[in-house]
Amino acid sequence: MKTFKKYTALVLFLIGITVLSISSCNRVEEEKQAKNIILLIGDGMGVSQLYAGLTANHGQLNITGMKHIGFQKTYSYDDYTTDSAASGTAIATGEKTRNGMIGMSPDSVKVKSILEISEDEGKSTGLISTSSITHATPASFIAHQVSRGMYEAIAADFLSTDIELVIGGGKNNFTEREDGRNLLEDFEKKGYSVYDNLEEALTCDNDKMIAFTAGGHNPRYSEGRGDMLPEATGKALEMLGDDPQGFFLMVEGSQIDWGGHANDIDYIIEETLDFDRAVGKALEFAEKNGETLVVVTADHECGGLTLKDGSFESGMVTPGFSTGGHTGIMVPVFAYGPGADEFMGVYENTDIIKKMMKAYGL
Ligand code: MG
Ligand code: ZN
Repeated sequence: MKTFKKYTALVLFLIGITVLSISSCNRVEEEKQAKNIILLIGDGMGVSQLYAGLTANHGQLNITGMKHIGFQKTYSYDDYTTDSAASGTAIATGEKTRNGMIGMSPDSVKVKSILEISEDEGKSTGLISTSSITHATPASFIAHQVSRGMYEAIAADFLSTDIELVIGGGKNNFTEREDGRNLLEDFEKKGYSVYDNLEEALTCDNDKMIAFTAGGHNPRYSEGRGDMLPEATGKALEMLGDDPQGFFLMVEGSQIDWGGHANDIDYIIEETLDFDRAVGKALEFAEKNGETLVVVTADHECGGLTLKDGSFESGMVTPGFSTGGHTGIMVPVFAYGPGADEFMGVYENTDIIKKMMKAYGL
């Protein structure tokens, strides 16, 4: 009888502890919101591109260590196979639009992006890209134009926001313009520090900067760009991370896509690994910070890449490509931090902003 009572008491005690810990866990998850969001987009980075990078890196990536994983459907308003303008707009604004359109609905109405919403919430914002900063993916977060090719109009749209940090190529769209304006003078008037190289930008102690790392697109990683992307990401987190109201930062690994268009596996792998190092910087910040949601995804796949063989030991893969363009297949989404569990499952690219807003508590 005595042992039975002891046993019952022990069981009740264990049940009590379990109930308490489950309810306190739930409470923590419910209360925790993301003050900051870092969204990293690997342009053209499908599962095969990621797996090629993983294999080349002997089985380990920062991205694949992220535990909350889903898939997003990338089709645009008018095409099963999206371009980077329509998919960028879908991710940035929650609106499926026509291929080629930037920050606009299919009937050419401007739609607000997560970057602009973050600005409205009093947060700091930033955009970083290894292409020209006026190219489709970053443009979708800040510009509203009917065509992705309107680079000079897209550059002028940067002045309509209070974005704190811009790092990328594309200086010529700001300075060598048909309208004769030098937009960098306007940025200086608005209090920005303006740079035309990363080295100086990394020493910036102003709270607003625009830094150009190329006149047009940046060169590829192995042809002179080097660690620009992870270094720029580190600088952005140092600058924006100071804002007590929080921040939104979008970082694009643009050229994974260009490796896909060129059916060049070495190009794809070096750009994927470079992008993964930028993700590493974001995760390192988020781990320490505790109030930062990190989301890693692609805008679409490119090249129809498959891996016919490979070796984790040598890091070699045998690629096969089915196209020199984009494909319509789903792409992965990885998340870490407050709100990360919302990113599990299969959903539309337009749902990503809803999940980010929920993480903000909006
Ligand atoms: Mg892009
Ligand atoms: Zn492309």
